[in-house]
Amino acid sequence: MTATIVIKHDRVKPVANQHPWVFSGAVESTDGAPMPGDIVTLVRPNGQFLARGYINPRSQILVRILTWQDEEIDEAWWRRTLERAISARSVDGFDARTNTTGARRLINAENDFLPGLVVDQYGRWLVVQALTLGIDIRKTHIADLLWDIVQPDGIYERSDVEVRGKEGLKPVNAVLRGNEQPGLITIEENGHRFQIDPVHGHKTGFYLDQRENRALVQTIITDLRRTQPDATPRCLNLFSYTGGFGLYAAAAGAGEIANVDSSHEALELAEANFELNDLPMENIEFIQANVFDYLRDMREANQQYDLIVLDPPKFASSAQQVERAARGYKDLNLNAFACVKPGGYLLTFSCSGGVSADLFQKIVFGALADSGRQAQILRHLGPGDDHPNALTFPEGAYLKGLLLRVY
Ligand code: SAH
Repeated sequence: MTATIVIKHDRVKPVANQHPWVFSGAVESTDGAPMPGDIVTLVRPNGQFLARGYINPRSQILVRILTWQDEEIDEAWWRRTLERAISARSVDGFDARTNTTGARRLINAENDFLPGLVVDQYGRWLVVQALTLGIDIRKTHIADLLWDIVQPDGIYERSDVEVRGKEGLKPVNAVLRGNEQPGLITIEENGHRFQIDPVHGHKTGFYLDQRENRALVQTIITDLRRTQPDATPRCLNLFSYTGGFGLYAAAAGAGEIANVDSSHEALELAEANFELNDLPMENIEFIQANVFDYLRDMREANQQYDLIVLDPPKFASSAQQVERAARGYKDLNLNAFACVKPGGYLLTFSCSGGVSADLFQKIVFGALADSGRQAQILRHLGPGDDHPNALTFPEGAYLKGLLLRVY
């Protein structure tokens, strides 16, 4: 028997409307004594069924909902829900079982109706993040199911993220299933090869969410070269991590690329990735610097680029940090506008959950106004479709961006 939690009359609506989080203030009463991580049943004040999820009294988010149907959360449920999300990734020709070099997000937590669970696939390896207690206590079991469904060579756990602290959990960075360490994994993305370091890299090792936007950079450079055959486009890849956007630009024949990041390890891997793809290295730079300072210096030196990519890390994870984040984005975008050649492009991103797409556009607008330049939005950008966003969970739309043409 699972414990039953009665939701207050005026707090029923979001639960009924399928928002996956229930805060303790929404609880009228609890029948039973659930242990942390246990499955609980949520009901209306009149006892009518609402939803079922797992509980953690230590977290501000008391319950995370797994289903809005009156069904049992048993082994068959976990298998079914994992399989549904994984097979949805096959529609574009990606098969988790047979694709030996491809990389995809297989499970996108709340957005795949599996709160607290992230699973990324890098070729024959899976990398798992257990972000909540409810997932942490079930992770061995989940790993068994993933082992069976995907048949990978190994499953690595990268649960060394800050949010686990809020759930009363310690960081974990270790093999979860299999006999070997993953080492460096080589994956292929749109025909380009990248080395992923799941043990030391950021997040699970790679920013899979930017795949389509990296491809867009390749298209832009290809078009520039087609329309202006003598041009040798100059690119600035800011917050480059392991080279992503810059590598696509190089593959399209960009004349000059500066990859800038504060992390020495990321830049080392970036250089290795360029070499791995046999790209000419003459005019490719890997610069270890603080982008805020670097961009200011480039502006003062009147440097001009055909294309600038601005992909900073998360500046705000909560509403309280939004103001500081806004100042950071404005400073970066203002200096970036000043450095784009007339008719050139700026791809600018925010991956701050606390900054909505609307607010981000307003910040970029403010930067443009101060820069005295003109710009057009060519595209609103977001993550690829292996990072779906549940319609009832706006908090899941963390990555937003704009492709701008600047005059
Ligand atoms: N565009 C990348 C992902 C960028 S992630 C891709 O497609 O893979 C953000 C990067 O910003 C990280 O590599 C981090 O090391 C770097 N970073 C964070 N703060 C920085 C700063 N102030 N200056 C330069 N790099 C920074």
